[in-house]
Amino acid sequence: MPTLEHPIPKSIFLILDDLDDARAVQQGLAVLTSKTFVIEWARTLAEGMQRLSRQASEVESKLLAVVLDLELPDSHGIETFERLFALAPHTPFLVLSTSRFEATARLAITAGAQDYLLKSRLNDYTLPKALSSMIERAANAEALFQAKETAELTLNSMGDAVIRTDPSGRLTYLNAAAERLTGFTQLQADQKTLDLILPLIDGLSRVPLANPMMAAMAANEAIRLTTNALLLRADGSEAAIEDSAAPIHDRRGLTIGAVMVLRDVSGARAQSLKMTHQAQHDSLTDLPNRALLHERLTQAISTASSAGHPLALLFLDVDRFKHINDSLGHDMADQLLRSVAERLLACVRTTDTVSRQGGDEFVVLLPSVLGEADTTVFAERILEAISAPHRIGEREVHVTVSIGIVLYPDHGGDAETLLQNADGAMYRAKDQGRNNYQFFRLDMYAKAAERQLLESDLRHMLERREVVLHYQPIVDLKTHTIVAAEALIRWRHPRRGLVPPSQFIPVAEHSGQIKAIGRWVLREACRQARVWQDADLPAIRIAVNISAADLCARDFVGCVRATLEETGLAAHHLELELTETFLMQEAAATADVLHAFKQMGVHLALDDFGTGYSSLSYMRSFPIDTLKIDQSFVRDITTDASDAGIVNAVISMGKTLGRRVVAEGVETAEQLAFLKQHHCTEAQGHYFSEAIAAADFAVLLRLGRIEPKPTPDADALPREDSAPAQSYCSSVRPCTQILEKLR
Ligand code: C2E
Ligand code: MG
Ligand code: MG
Repeated sequence: MPTLEHPIPKSIFLILDDLDDARAVQQGLAVLTSKTFVIEWARTLAEGMQRLSRQASEVESKLLAVVLDLELPDSHGIETFERLFALAPHTPFLVLSTSRFEATARLAITAGAQDYLLKSRLNDYTLPKALSSMIERAANAEALFQAKETAELTLNSMGDAVIRTDPSGRLTYLNAAAERLTGFTQLQADQKTLDLILPLIDGLSRVPLANPMMAAMAANEAIRLTTNALLLRADGSEAAIEDSAAPIHDRRGLTIGAVMVLRDVSGARAQSLKMTHQAQHDSLTDLPNRALLHERLTQAISTASSAGHPLALLFLDVDRFKHINDSLGHDMADQLLRSVAERLLACVRTTDTVSRQGGDEFVVLLPSVLGEADTTVFAERILEAISAPHRIGEREVHVTVSIGIVLYPDHGGDAETLLQNADGAMYRAKDQGRNNYQFFRLDMYAKAAERQLLESDLRHMLERREVVLHYQPIVDLKTHTIVAAEALIRWRHPRRGLVPPSQFIPVAEHSGQIKAIGRWVLREACRQARVWQDADLPAIRIAVNISAADLCARDFVGCVRATLEETGLAAHHLELELTETFLMQEAAATADVLHAFKQMGVHLALDDFGTGYSSLSYMRSFPIDTLKIDQSFVRDITTDASDAGIVNAVISMGKTLGRRVVAEGVETAEQLAFLKQHHCTEAQGHYFSEAIAAADFAVLLRLGRIEPKPTPDADALPREDSAPAQSYCSSVRPCTQILEKLR
């Protein structure tokens, strides 16, 4: 049994029929001192073939040599050699021949045999000599072959492509990786010129590159490729490549060609391009981000400045996006933003830039415009495109945008100023009722700065306890008893004095701070109502204004429930005031929330009624308890017939639907008389009392009712103008007199 220590001995295989010849060969071989082989013997072609085919299936290298007589009982001449050699092509064959068949023996040499020996010369000198040198030659050739094969295997196992040329630049070698990379096989590439097999271009300029192998041979040193090299492959595709070329020298130092090692870096280069793209684009919409916009804007300013034409920058903000986000959920809101991005892209030319600044803000850069007129046309196109319904999943969502526009050079000389002023103009568009565009005007500077200041001050408003609630009584018109108090927020600003909600609520809504403010108001109002009850004052409804952001927040119902529990106020003493406009826009989404409140026993009021576009069918289906007629209608009821008609109609509608109707902003006895005459149930307004501090309200509440006054002369009444902190309230306030008397 062969083992590692005792491997199978190599053999010399004799294929000859003549016994004398066999004996002569054996004697000749016996002379060989290093007898590390065995002798095997076959007498016919058939036996020889059988043995060789078995051998072939084992390891052919176990055969040292074959000594063959071409004349066998079952085969003659060259055919004998050919058939056996085909079975062991790597084994050295020594052909035995007579001088008669010497020509055939020579033929065998050309067909692959190593040597031949005439039988007449066969002795113990010629045979060992012929065999030894033949075996040695074969061993050398095998060793060379093995070395070459190992080198070849090594090169083919490499991930890098290796290409070799001769001195004239003709290809002489491609390893397997090079075949894959170039798309040419070794055979196809052989002797072809480099430019055909390895055309290289610069990835940025697309200009053909000088072939590095020729360059390496010319410079007689190793060189590296340019960083952006692209290889054009056989199938026309491109591969980003990297690496070096070097000349090959022979032993005497002469250049005999060049070798090049190439690596396909398409993946790495694509990855680095991707990373650059990611750093400059918004991941949600894939639009250029703030940084890239800034770069392009700076570039556009410089081009516009040297070419002498204006450029336009449009700052867009999706209207009421925070509400949309809260009511649709983040996924749908994200889809909506993508849809807005697509609409914007569809409106612009390829040279324009649409960028997302973050959140719901987009900026469009038109690097070349004629002026205000064509920018106006563009802005109108955007308003129209965005306001068409967006299909988000199963839903159709309607949104609008407000746009602020600046032109360079009229509205700013650098990127920062232009962006800031466009932002200011966008706020102006919001103030103008949204879904419109505004060009920047100089007076917006002050407003934009003011708004920014306000926004940063707002951040500290709650923690610095600068916020306070005032309460305005709502009275029953039959008895004049106080039936409710509306909690109205006031901001005691350290420098500005008392800031009215109309000035900071929209800012807080835009910045998102409204949520925290809303929670504070709710809690404080409920707490105060409970304090009054605990002081044995009449239990009244406490009305709290709810912003759209509150109503849309998913946890709002839970938050109200928790606040009631925490403060100990019964649900039926709380009334939430919702604005009509918002309720109608988000009708379906808010219906569930409203019904949840209804079930809890919380009252619901529709504030500023008449200013929105309420649909009567919604009105019927919403569980609204109270309609609050907006003061803009009440103001002129005694002088304007149509306002009087509207108020009258609302009162009747309230009666029919079984809703309470509160008239807001009652300032005069005439207005009051009108409302009483038309059976309005409740009223609120300066005629009774403005919104006052909690302590003052407690005094009123202890009285329980507010007596009607004779029509006061407004100018004769004391004003709080002397107290700048409340200077924004400047209407008649009979209750001030009552309070003063009571104090
Ligand atoms: P609103 O809910 O319609 O509140 C009534 C507004 O009319 C109050 O203005 C009140 O002071 C004023 N008002 C009442 N009677 C008269 C009158 O006879 N004549 C005149 N000229 N005005 C009268 P205020 O306090 O400035 O609030 C303005 C708006 O700010 C409120 O309108 C409400 O929408 C919002 N707001 C006030 N407090 C809050 C709050 O805590 N949260 C939220 N989200 N909004 C609030
Ligand atoms: Mg209100
Ligand atoms: Mg109102």
